[in-house]
Amino acid sequence: MSALAERYAQTRDTARVRERALFVSPRIPSELELQARWFAGDFGKHFVSTAGDQIDVVQFGTWNREAGPDFRDAAIRINSSEPVRGCIEIDLLDRSWETHGHAINPAFDTTVLHVFVERSDREFFTRTKSNRNIAQVCIDPATLPEAFAANVPLARPGRCQAPLKDLPAERVCSVLDAAAQFRLRQKANRVRNKIDAHGRDETLFQEIATALGYKENKLPFTLLAQRAPLRLLRENVQNCEALLFGGAGFLEVSDLDVYKRSAREYVRQLWEGWWPHRDELQRLILPANSWRLSSTRPVNHPQRRLAALAILARDWSRLQRASGKSSVDAANDFFQALEHPFWNFHYTLTAAASPKKMALIGESRVADILANVLFPFWVAHDLQASSRPTTRLWDEYAKLPAQLSNRRLETAATRLFGNDSRRQEFLKTVAHQQGLLQIYEDFCMEDNSDCAQCPFPEQMRKWT
Ligand code: SF4
Repeated sequence: MSALAERYAQTRDTARVRERALFVSPRIPSELELQARWFAGDFGKHFVSTAGDQIDVVQFGTWNREAGPDFRDAAIRINSSEPVRGCIEIDLLDRSWETHGHAINPAFDTTVLHVFVERSDREFFTRTKSNRNIAQVCIDPATLPEAFAANVPLARPGRCQAPLKDLPAERVCSVLDAAAQFRLRQKANRVRNKIDAHGRDETLFQEIATALGYKENKLPFTLLAQRAPLRLLRENVQNCEALLFGGAGFLEVSDLDVYKRSAREYVRQLWEGWWPHRDELQRLILPANSWRLSSTRPVNHPQRRLAALAILARDWSRLQRASGKSSVDAANDFFQALEHPFWNFHYTLTAAASPKKMALIGESRVADILANVLFPFWVAHDLQASSRPTTRLWDEYAKLPAQLSNRRLETAATRLFGNDSRRQEFLKTVAHQQGLLQIYEDFCMEDNSDCAQCPFPEQMRKWT
């Protein structure tokens, strides 16, 4: 597996100095997204402070339920010293520390690190009420992989269409395989870093939650899995569904009359489970505007996915066993057999019951979890054990049949293959779809010359 991935990595990294278009600026995430990405470790663990000190995050801590900084029970190391324990505060602007009143608020006294995106023109020191200086780290959202997602290439055939058209199908497939192997390895490395920060089970739980959020609700699902971690749900296993629904903000209406008769008993049970925890978790309840509910198909409604996440937390040891086999069949059997007496027949908490039974997690979502969560996990495990993942995993991955297409994939296919009659054939597997996306991100999204200076066509002519 690694030789092909290596070959692709060289193709990707040679031939040009990457330059961003002059007027494209990175998308700045909201403060909530920034906090979620920080906690997930997407910005890394090693930083240089504004004063030039080496800062290593030893523990990211937990989301703070009480008044005070965003994360508590964290630990950092300054210039390789003994770990310093305390809280971490994250802001968009350095001066928010002052404008939000943290400098005079004793609840912020235990802060050990102030993280922000933008520095003010004038030098700013983060100080506590007792006048202690706090280390500052400035993070750059442009380092996040999809930071320039606004730079969307047009869906029209590109310059590489010509060389690709002349290449025999096996060579095109070999390019796609190489890009897919590279992408899988990148994901596995990301998973490995996250396991270092949060442990294996929490990482798996967070990754599955994110996948259950689809594109539209990735952030609220990620936040929920971070704020109601697997450990907390396992400690309250009887109420874990109620904790997730309450934390999601779906139990804020206390009047049972708004629910259909068929839902009232279920909602009442959720309420009873949530009520004893509501006060202590109130600060972490997601605001209603975190959710995008209108653009999802009813069967994919986040409430159905949340119930699936609760079942996974409850049956964690079964999931561990299914995942531990590193087998597509075992994972498929596990996910497709998930049952829920209410959600098998309901689209939302308030909708009327459906006469037809619906799968809790459909086939295409399971395929997505396999491709984007479980395989990267399995490869990460193999990489740890042997530094080279086994070819068996790749062979299994390469066999996964493609699921639904999406706009990004269609744009990529149009740019690279145009009307090549083999286009559908090239995208029949998850691996080839993923390979195409990797090429699109590495070359099309990095190109500012309308293909003229893109090195990919020349690299393809040389691909043997
Ligand atoms: S930018 Fe490069 S990879 Fe993308 S379509 Fe143009 S030539 Fe092909």
